[in-house]
Amino acid sequence: MRVELITIGDELLLGLTVDTNAAYLARELGAVGVEIVRRATVGDVAADIANAVADALARTGAVVTTGGLGPTSDDMTKPAIATLFGRELEFDTDTYERIERRWQSRGLRGPLPATNRQQALIPRGAIILANDHGTAPGIWLEDAQGRWVAMLPGVPREMRAMVADRLIPRLRAGAQGASTVVRSRTLRTTGIAESAAAERLGPLAGGVEGMPLAYLPGLDGVDLRVTARGLPDSEADALLESAAARLREMMGAFVYGEGTMDLAAVVLDACRKCGLHLAVGESCTGGLLGARLTSVPGSSEVFLGGVIAYDNSIKESMLGVSPGELADVGAVSEPVATAMARGARTRTGADIGVAITGIAGPTGGSPTRPIGTVWIALDHPGPQFQVATEVRHAIFVGDREEIRYRSTQTALDMIRRALPTQRSS
Ligand code: ATP
Repeated sequence: MRVELITIGDELLLGLTVDTNAAYLARELGAVGVEIVRRATVGDVAADIANAVADALARTGAVVTTGGLGPTSDDMTKPAIATLFGRELEFDTDTYERIERRWQSRGLRGPLPATNRQQALIPRGAIILANDHGTAPGIWLEDAQGRWVAMLPGVPREMRAMVADRLIPRLRAGAQGASTVVRSRTLRTTGIAESAAAERLGPLAGGVEGMPLAYLPGLDGVDLRVTARGLPDSEADALLESAAARLREMMGAFVYGEGTMDLAAVVLDACRKCGLHLAVGESCTGGLLGARLTSVPGSSEVFLGGVIAYDNSIKESMLGVSPGELADVGAVSEPVATAMARGARTRTGADIGVAITGIAGPTGGSPTRPIGTVWIALDHPGPQFQVATEVRHAIFVGDREEIRYRSTQTALDMIRRALPTQRSS
């Protein structure tokens, strides 16, 4: 089934509210085989809503809207679409009583405001999609040719419940034949540029197992997503499984996880399996690496702590970096990064020390050390560790926050790759 989606609200057009409803609907409906083929956003203007819905109906005959069902004057969805369908709005006593009961049960003071009456106005012949989490009922309006519009509330919590409890069951009941799904699988890679990943995966330019492959670059790295459309459940899963195996084989150690998994969680898990403890010494990242590690539940089994050694005096006093070295080569240098990592490890009793020192900008760069210059070091003399103590130099692009985040991602990746269980060809 091909459906168009229209999200309604000035706040969406102005960028004040991020349109999470559209993403949610695309995901949930896709999972039951309903394909969102086009998305549009319009403001709280009756003519714009009517035009967008009319265009969408002409293409697919099936439209889901969210927003604009509330009790205020900017809530135009219902009258605009009722007019498009040539239906009068009629007062529905059951709906009104339901709204009134909800108002009273929530202990709200005073009588139900008159503006709420407008939420009980229902286009003639429409089906009410009851709202168990708010006042505005959803509405299903269908014409004689079977073209339909499902109007859902804008509040995400109300919309989500209505999709699960009312919309999907209706769509399922109306669907004929074997049901199909839209399902995807995402492999997370890091340490490789999008173009280099595309070169490695050149043979898959036409798709993997007949499915399209998308490259999604971000601060974490490049995500690789394959999507199965219009297939029965088990067939989609089997194809995605074999596509993921093929991608893993071709991308090797660049792959660190799947879905939305954070690299910090992968590293902590691998350290836990090896019985290793971690400590950090952070300069330009100011605790961001520690924050990423400690945001993973259970991190205390692995992460001991560390030092935010921002000023050189702290690098000296807390991490044992020699004043001579700092004076000779500067804080953003290989020897200082190495000394910081060693200090983090030895002063905490951890098995692995990791340190980051760099220039995050926007000031402080020089021709020899441009903004984005970062040194990252690992210190780990333990026998389980199979690679030598390592230092990496990078010049990251981006603004201050991006440089800081990329630094932590690279530091985590260095730990991951150095761990025995993570090493691969
Ligand atoms: P209600 O009857 O509860 O007012 P409504 O259908 O009138 O619901 P809107 O007034 O359009 O919904 O939006 C209510 C709130 O829901 C907005 O302030 C906004 O925070 C949120 N919202 C609306 N549309 C979206 C969307 N597409 N994505 C995320 N949030 C949204």
